[in-house]
Amino acid sequence: MREFGYERALDVPGAVAVAVADPDVRFLGGGTNLVDLMKAGVERPGRLVDVRELPLDRVEPTPGGGLRIGATVTNSDLAAHPEVRRRYPALTQAVLAGASGQLRNMATVGGNLLQRTRCGYFTDVSKPCNKRVPGSGCPAVAGEHHNHAVLGASDHCVAVHPSDMGVALAAFDAVVTYETADGPGELPLADFYRPVGDSPHRETALPPGALVTGVVLPPAPVAARSRYRKVRERASYAFAIGSAAAALDVRDGTVTDARLAFGAVASRPWRARAAEDVLIGAPATGETFAAAADAELAAARPLPHNAYKVPLMRNLVVALLTELTEEATR
Ligand SMILES: Cc1cc2nc3c(=O)[nH]c(=O)nc-3n(C[C@H](O)[C@H](O)[C@H](O)COP(=O)(O)OP(=O)(O)OC[C@H]3O[C@@H](n4cnc5c(N)ncnc54)[C@H](O)[C@@H]3O)c2cc1C
Ligand code: SF4
Repeated sequence: MREFGYERALDVPGAVAVAVADPDVRFLGGGTNLVDLMKAGVERPGRLVDVRELPLDRVEPTPGGGLRIGATVTNSDLAAHPEVRRRYPALTQAVLAGASGQLRNMATVGGNLLQRTRCGYFTDVSKPCNKRVPGSGCPAVAGEHHNHAVLGASDHCVAVHPSDMGVALAAFDAVVTYETADGPGELPLADFYRPVGDSPHRETALPPGALVTGVVLPPAPVAARSRYRKVRERASYAFAIGSAAAALDVRDGTVTDARLAFGAVASRPWRARAAEDVLIGAPATGETFAAAADAELAAARPLPHNAYKVPLMRNLVVALLTELTEEATR
């Protein structure tokens, strides 16, 4: 491992000033992804600025009736928070579906959103990878891609974003807040991750040196009836091969409101707006749910070894929405 500097951030402006002045600085949350990547030689920061003692560790109500979640709230504390459990249950379920208890005790909200892909070529420095070394190529397209993207990818990169938490946040219109040398800013989660295009190494729309300070969830009554479902290759402690967060309001057999987002199918948590458009106003039946999934998955461009994800996501959506409908009409 290379030598690197380490310091604890004492306040937000101080942390930002250090990062803006030196592009070799990385913020350290729980370190559960960054330190692994440093050991593998994928990340080679000159200095780490530990943000865990910044006063960003609270989950608080917003004046508008939503919730503000600080960037250093741990995954465990977020999942256990009574207001999250009551008002956004799919978020609790998504967080608890990720990693292990020990990791969730360390991992932070900011770090979870900014964790890097698990693509095996990205984490192996002996291989080319456009995301790690721009212009070096993407061996996954013709190689190992069974858990890669079917939506929104490009020939330059077909990696998926691994976060479970992000999928629920995407379904609920979360807004990421950040701080730069020029002051505070915010990005809807829908705009937080950049489209892959020909520059997969540029993953987010954050300005250079920006510190993520938190996530704001707007009020969403429909979210109180929400669920997260994750498909993985073993029952626990594994990343998703497909997942979905959904919320549904059903009145007199008709869908009156719906939220749907997919995980492990794209370079970012994927808000399924085409599916939502089919759902809202339609009868809450299996046929509608399948049509909604088909509308979203019409844009899928699978590769030879990940085509299974298209029927997997269709079945997952139908099962999840059927469960939510049964719950709503019970
Ligand atoms: C074995 C294993 C299994 C896992 N399984 C899952 C899973 O099933 N689902 C899932 O979602 N995740 C899973 N994870 C990933 C885990 O959730 C992430 O490693 C974790 O959420 C990252 O949070 P962290 O605070 O440790 O981030 P760190 O490792 O500290 O940082 C990650 C990145 O975020 C940046 N960063 C951190 N905080 C900030 C901030 N406030 N502002 C700006 N940049 C910041 C860092 O510079 C770094 O680039 C797994 C991890 C492991 C090791
Ligand atoms: S899919 Fe993306 S991360 Fe994986 S090898 Fe290709 S460019 Fe790298």
